[in-house]
Amino acid sequence: MKFSDITGHDEIKRRLVGAIDAGRVSHAQMFTGEAGSGTLPMALAYIQYLNCPNRADGDSCGECPNCQKIAALAHPDLHFVMPVNKQGKKSGEAVTSESFMPQWRKIVTETGGYFDEQMWYDTLGLDNLQGLISKKEAEEVIRRLGFKSFEGGYKAVVVWLPERMNTEAANTLLKILEEPWDGTLFLLVSAQPRLLLPTILSRVQETVIPGGEAEARRRLAGSHAGEADEDFEMFVELARLSYNDKHLELMKWAERAAALGRERQKRLVENCIRLVRSSFMINAGLEDISYLWGAELDFCRKFSPFIGAHNVEGLVAEMESALGQLRQNGSAAIVFTHFALAVSKMINR
Ligand SMILES: [Zn+2]
Repeated sequence: MKFSDITGHDEIKRRLVGAIDAGRVSHAQMFTGEAGSGTLPMALAYIQYLNCPNRADGDSCGECPNCQKIAALAHPDLHFVMPVNKQGKKSGEAVTSESFMPQWRKIVTETGGYFDEQMWYDTLGLDNLQGLISKKEAEEVIRRLGFKSFEGGYKAVVVWLPERMNTEAANTLLKILEEPWDGTLFLLVSAQPRLLLPTILSRVQETVIPGGEAEARRRLAGSHAGEADEDFEMFVELARLSYNDKHLELMKWAERAAALGRERQKRLVENCIRLVRSSFMINAGLEDISYLWGAELDFCRKFSPFIGAHNVEGLVAEMESALGQLRQNGSAAIVFTHFALAVSKMINR
């Protein structure tokens, strides 16, 4: 990733480049910003610039072996830690980021680094499960940093969403943030720094990447530009028709959904699940971890009183059942007709 691959944020790029050029590289840094605002691409461009021997015009060359290995996320001195989990994990079984590098490379490459937490969990095939950064993971990072640098440059660890560390992991990592080793760089990439321990916050140098909402949405939708917006619009419509109990129009909504392509249908239902869960979290006073912003946040705040402990499980179960039937190639007309009526009944309950 070169700085020039990232849209906008020119002032931030200039500042980062200037600091590296002047030899001011803080060992513990944090890039913060909404998912999709370019925090991860910025971290990758920064590390690539730091390790490129042929920098020119405020950017890495993109062609030397270092640049190419970093761009492929396959540089031996570049490590990644991200929240991970496994469906059906046995209790006591530790899962660490290293086993998920193929999926990580895939999502970073496909989205250019513009993706959010839920997209990552979808890539991992997690169903109703969140990822976590465990103590074992933090220990593993420290062990790997103990090796000599392979290529003679900086050894870097990118911790994506450090807010998913549990306390034990955070305390383990804290030890090394307090006394960082020479030639190492910790780069935390956080969407919700408020959830981090104050002791961690006080040890990192923060760079805030302001969120460009339109850009973030466009990039999050990736090659399906506009579809995320359409899914949101259909969810709003479904919610409105449901609490107004408009049966005929609900049937039209189902027809419209059934006319979409199969992949789009699945994504629509996945987005409905995400928005219902987020609305429930807002209702439960957990807006901070609802991962919504902009129009979605505005709507879900208004919608949240309708989603409570009495119906959230039923709604999500109904939606997941629809998703399962779509995956098994069930008739879309039947699936969505049932879906619209069942959802409407439960929202009204
Ligand atoms: Zn280079």
